[in-house]
Amino acid sequence: MNRMNDQWTVAEHPETALEPRHFARRQAPVPALEDGEFLIESHALNIAPVMRMYMMGGSAAGEAPLAIGDVIHGRGVGQVIESRHPAYPVGAYLQGQLGWQRYKVSRGTTAEKLRLLKPNGLPITYALSALGMTGYSAWCGFFSRGEPRAGEALLVSGAVGGVGSLVVQMARLLGMAPIIGIAGGAQKCALAVELGCDAAIDYKQDNIGERLHALLPNGFDLYFDNVGGEILNTSLEHLAPRARVVLCGAISEYQKAERQGPSNYFLLSNANADFRGFFVYNHVDEFDQAETEMAQWLRAGKLQVLTDTLEGFDQMPAALMGMYTGTGGGKRLVTVKEGPVAVY
Ligand code: NAP
Repeated sequence: MNRMNDQWTVAEHPETALEPRHFARRQAPVPALEDGEFLIESHALNIAPVMRMYMMGGSAAGEAPLAIGDVIHGRGVGQVIESRHPAYPVGAYLQGQLGWQRYKVSRGTTAEKLRLLKPNGLPITYALSALGMTGYSAWCGFFSRGEPRAGEALLVSGAVGGVGSLVVQMARLLGMAPIIGIAGGAQKCALAVELGCDAAIDYKQDNIGERLHALLPNGFDLYFDNVGGEILNTSLEHLAPRARVVLCGAISEYQKAERQGPSNYFLLSNANADFRGFFVYNHVDEFDQAETEMAQWLRAGKLQVLTDTLEGFDQMPAALMGMYTGTGGGKRLVTVKEGPVAVY
């Protein structure tokens, strides 16, 4: 059967904010498989802040630099629909580097970072949120780098985003208190409280310093930072002794020509506090444990997955361009295959 692929490619490298002119779309026939190859049909594709960096053409998050005309990198979840590879049989579901396209001919290389899904009775799209890189980032960043303890005070920025919403819920399961979230707008703040925050700060309306002072009179023991910039800088005035700051992301800075670093960094010194870098792919050996625990919590109803789902491959550029100014809450993804999401 002669299948046509549908792909989004880089039309121009962005320098600051992404615009429609940076994206191009093309159709191309899917080539016949050779020995050792298999064909994956994309069911849903991930949208992540790092994708703008991919499009800029540099090397980001371990992916190869993109040239003009290259298919944009992106993780996805899909199904093997033809195979000449014994480890990837027809019918298998997997997650990994599928790219912004409907079909991918794969050889299962290390660079593609494919993981076969384990049957777990959950929707396959969870492999793009709690049971994929977002979940691994939350679990590894929180437990391995944050070293959280019950009873400690936690601050989380991006508290209703893909990573942050999972961190808030895991902190609640662990018994941290108080848990203070930072989110944009009254609705998102209400959602943060619903997920398990004791209180939420609206970064679009509130005076963050004053609210931190009122809500964390003894400071925080752990700050899980997804946003960087001015919020990170202000937070450093509220360190408890020996506090840890996990630097997961700096989404407030990604679109800026000149990124702002924390001028308050020396306050770490007075508190014997730590800045802790974090990169999820430095924790590959923890992914199985993260996935097993997350799946158990999901099946037990202890964890909810927030997804901000857009429908249709057409939506890919808009979904990414909108992400740097806040999403509908939770992990943003785009469903590509029509019909109900498969449960595996
Ligand atoms: P996400 O779902 O888009 O969540 C990010 C949140 O950041 C959004 O909910 C949004 O909050 C908030 N936000 C956006 N712009 C902001 C601004 N200017 N000021 C304050 N808050 C802002 O993204 P994610 O997948 O959870 O990723 C979260 C962060 O972790 C990102 O920075 C990402 O790059 C990073 N990350 C790092 C690793 C790693 O290995 N280090 C792995 C995965 C992700 P509102 O919607 O409430 O406005």
